[in-house]
Amino acid sequence: MFSWLRGRRAPAGVPIEADLWRRSTAPWLFMRGMGAADSERLRALCERFLAIKRFAGTHELEVTPPMRIAIAAQACILVLELGIDWYEGWSDVIIYPGQFAPEREVEDDAGIVHLTRDAMAGEAWLGGPVILSYEDVALAGDERLRVAGYNVVIHEFAHKLDMRNGDPNGFPPLHRGMDPRAWRLAFSEAYADFVRKVEAAERLPKRRSQAALDALPIDPYAAESAGEFFAVASEAFFETPELLAPAYPSVYEQLRLFYRQDPNARLAARAAT
Ligand SMILES: [Zn+2]
Repeated sequence: MFSWLRGRRAPAGVPIEADLWRRSTAPWLFMRGMGAADSERLRALCERFLAIKRFAGTHELEVTPPMRIAIAAQACILVLELGIDWYEGWSDVIIYPGQFAPEREVEDDAGIVHLTRDAMAGEAWLGGPVILSYEDVALAGDERLRVAGYNVVIHEFAHKLDMRNGDPNGFPPLHRGMDPRAWRLAFSEAYADFVRKVEAAERLPKRRSQAALDALPIDPYAAESAGEFFAVASEAFFETPELLAPAYPSVYEQLRLFYRQDPNARLAARAAT
């Protein structure tokens, strides 16, 4: 009676035509230095991703094939050496035209509950969807507007990897052979140092304060929590490894072991040719 189950196959990939693939991935910083074979593997991974995830636009936003491919490419760069299974257990990618402001109840230190409506560029739910503002997605791909290292898709999908063992706390499930103590030490030292730097910058007079925050090697938002530090460091790892690696070498090393990629070496090899 359940014979249909036996005959059921994993959905085949959604083919991405070569020219569209090139155009959709050309603007992304993480593609710098990537060889043709790796780019092809990334494309195949995106074809699988498109087959298993559902995209939906809100406020009548039409999610076009190039938009889907651009988002898939950024999501899949994280799992190029891990496999698409790291994104199993949920299925929806919801796209708002711009930033969204969901109403949330937040309890303050005194136990008083407030209603907040903070504008958000993206959000990842435990066991649920990834939600993205397309305006922010497009920003990372626009050479004239982008802030180096800012990539909302990589950020939210890093949270998704972190959530594979519960709430996002900056401690995703590590591979066999990785040392959890080395991970904890690298991240806790870097996080403490970064929080100190952000706080010092924020104490400066207004104009100098902004300049000091802009000069930090990663987005100051990383100082929010250990979970945010991991997501922001992941953005920098793929987008601006040349800034992250010298600033926090042991974090870079742990991310290199976790993602099984070395974006800084890709850049160096590209510069040498
Ligand atoms: Zn976040």
